[in-house]
Amino acid sequence: WTEGTVTDAENSLTELAALAETAGSQVLDGLIQRRTRPDPATYIGRGKVDDLGAVVLSTGADTVICDGELSPSQLRNLEQRTKVKVVDRTALILDIFAQHAKSKEGKAQVELAQLEYLLPRLRGWGETLSRQTGGSGRGGGAGGGVGVRGPGETKLETDRRRIRHRISRLRREIKSMRTVRVTKRARRNRNSVPAVAIAGYTNAGKSSLLNALTGAGVLVENALFATLDPTTRKATASDGRLYTLSDTVGFVRHLPHQIVEAFRSTLEEVAEADLVVHVVDGTHPDPEEQVRAVHEVLAEVGADRLPELLVVNKTDTADEDTLLRLKRLWPDAIFVSAHTGRGVDGLRQAIEERLPQPAVEVRAVLP
Ligand code: GDP
Repeated sequence: WTEGTVTDAENSLTELAALAETAGSQVLDGLIQRRTRPDPATYIGRGKVDDLGAVVLSTGADTVICDGELSPSQLRNLEQRTKVKVVDRTALILDIFAQHAKSKEGKAQVELAQLEYLLPRLRGWGETLSRQTGGSGRGGGAGGGVGVRGPGETKLETDRRRIRHRISRLRREIKSMRTVRVTKRARRNRNSVPAVAIAGYTNAGKSSLLNALTGAGVLVENALFATLDPTTRKATASDGRLYTLSDTVGFVRHLPHQIVEAFRSTLEEVAEADLVVHVVDGTHPDPEEQVRAVHEVLAEVGADRLPELLVVNKTDTADEDTLLRLKRLWPDAIFVSAHTGRGVDGLRQAIEERLPQPAVEVRAVLP
């Protein structure tokens, strides 16, 4: 369903399809329904569920992916009606983060986010579900309630307890890994090396720009979420000063709050930067929406007050009219192509101009 315009929904669905392909799925068909709000029981309208069932049958699909976050009961109802696995946007994004996390900290953060997503939904999952059928216990809260006892419940409670233990353990581990990172950062700060964070929507070309700016061999993938773990590179300004450039997590629309939570410490690193280089994909159908989505996440981690340099990338393939429109909209933005190198020198210069000036010793000479 969608409350916005159909074009918004189509863009969002195109992105969802790209996300699903990144996760290794083959996308067969799409279905949009315009409603004022989701159906509390089935997310899409009850009648529309039959249409969805028909699409599942005719395409032979084995999974339905919904472009939003489903409540545990919506998920369960849809699975029962369509007889296939139902996944929501949040679960899909978590899955992709899980596939792409490389560092120990990144992996722990994703696992934490997945478990937090799973915990309230545990009742609706696999074996536990079949043992629960017939029981009408709608406890809702963590403590369960009347009518939820029985052999299945015992297992469910054990599962929940195990997950809670794992969650607190992961939290502790992440906290200590964070301490190490903060210490490293403090050392950097003491040496007063200015830090530049490259932020931007996923696939905007952050890794490519980092490579173009520093000549470092960072993995570039045409896949959403190629970048999960921040990469930091040293760069030297033309006046010989050192600064660091970090590639940050790629953002998407409706980034699941579990992810924002789990990655908070990584994202907070952005908040400590001296300058945010915000990369926008000039070939994207809706660059303004990308910028809004990134600003939302930056605001959530308190990085919205930092000086920002807006950079429109992919000018080699972007549409001329779009570029003109964006130039009018963002007169201070820098237009580049990480691929051809066009504008990259100008960008480097703009970054250097915005670096904090080194502390200068001022001596007053009294007459
Ligand atoms: P990130 O997710 O923001 O780090 O994006 P990447 O740097 O991994 O790039 C995503 C995709 O966009 C890759 O397929 C790149 O080859 C492509 N790309 C990056 N910069 C440019 C550019 O300047 N022009 C064009 N045409 N494609 C680019």
